[in-house]
Amino acid sequence: MRGRVPDRLTYLLEQKEKGRAVFGVFPALCPKEMLWAMGVVPAEIWDPPLELVKVNSHLQPYICSVVRSGMELVLQGKSDFLDGFLFPHTCDSIQNMASVIKDCMGPEKPCYFFYLPKAPYTEAARTYYLTKLQELAGSLEKQLGGFDQERLGECVRLSNRISSLIEKLYAMRAKGRLRGTSRSFYQLLRKGEHLMPEDLIPLLEQYLTQNTLSEPKGSSGVIFSGILPNPLELLDVLDQLGTRVVHDDLLNCGRRLLAPKMDTTIGPLEALAERYFHLPPCPTKGSGVQERLDFLLDLVKKTDAKGIIFNMVKFCEPEWFDLPFIQKGLKDHGVPTLVLDMEINQDLSAQMITRVEAFLELIS
Ligand code: SF4
Repeated sequence: MRGRVPDRLTYLLEQKEKGRAVFGVFPALCPKEMLWAMGVVPAEIWDPPLELVKVNSHLQPYICSVVRSGMELVLQGKSDFLDGFLFPHTCDSIQNMASVIKDCMGPEKPCYFFYLPKAPYTEAARTYYLTKLQELAGSLEKQLGGFDQERLGECVRLSNRISSLIEKLYAMRAKGRLRGTSRSFYQLLRKGEHLMPEDLIPLLEQYLTQNTLSEPKGSSGVIFSGILPNPLELLDVLDQLGTRVVHDDLLNCGRRLLAPKMDTTIGPLEALAERYFHLPPCPTKGSGVQERLDFLLDLVKKTDAKGIIFNMVKFCEPEWFDLPFIQKGLKDHGVPTLVLDMEINQDLSAQMITRVEAFLELIS
């Protein structure tokens, strides 16, 4: 794959030709390693760039655009080539969409549900999560054949390699020792939403090798919080104004990609379960406001960021419920914040750009 990266759809169709199954996986957290181990390519569905037309007769306009665009993809028949769907229980909106797709639309393909424990995590939560992993393995096995723990162990090791590379990329970027725009950095990370590990690892290695700087270079930075690193034009505006995104607290990126390495001395299912409990805090996991605030303050300290941009998705309840408290906590600690309220795939308006410019001027 080194040097040649087909577009997402071409890649997924090529994978099918190789005899692999392709599943549509909705946000945000699922044990991808289990799918890899069973020969399934997880194709994550976050923000398909579609005009929202058909979904309007199925979902209310005040449901977030991540869910609405994901369902539009299904309604437009653009997911017909998939061999199944996996719906993690991320929030009520995803859960409701999953029910509508499964129960009302009745797609002629298997639908799997994955229920994650929410914080606070007790010993019972660990047992529960392990049980859910075993149940998922059991139901996938019925469609796809034998579940091999040894193969899962190999996938856990590949996943650890990806985590190491991503951790290094973030660390180098925070120190100003990674050449490249914010756009290229996040476009690279998002390749992990559909590439299998053997294709993703060389890309990450190549980016690191080609873009590492021997001396720090760069300007002041900001932290991005919210769901997705989009629109890309927003990242471009920051780059043009000489501001780096030095780190993030995005559900789609840092909150799940900066996973601790999994313990390869224990069983792979146990290792997957343990990792979940050590991910960065996130409102979709039920993390407390104070835990999130402490995490963000620590990020600001470590990266010397000048402020935080909350790139909010309209109607995302988990994020919006926390925001006033987090903002107040940050203000009390002297951390400037900017809140943008966007639909995914929305064009960046001139007014939005002016607000970003004014914020950057304020913190410079
Ligand atoms: S954007 Fe928010 S409400 Fe929408 S799917 Fe993601 S977590 Fe759920």
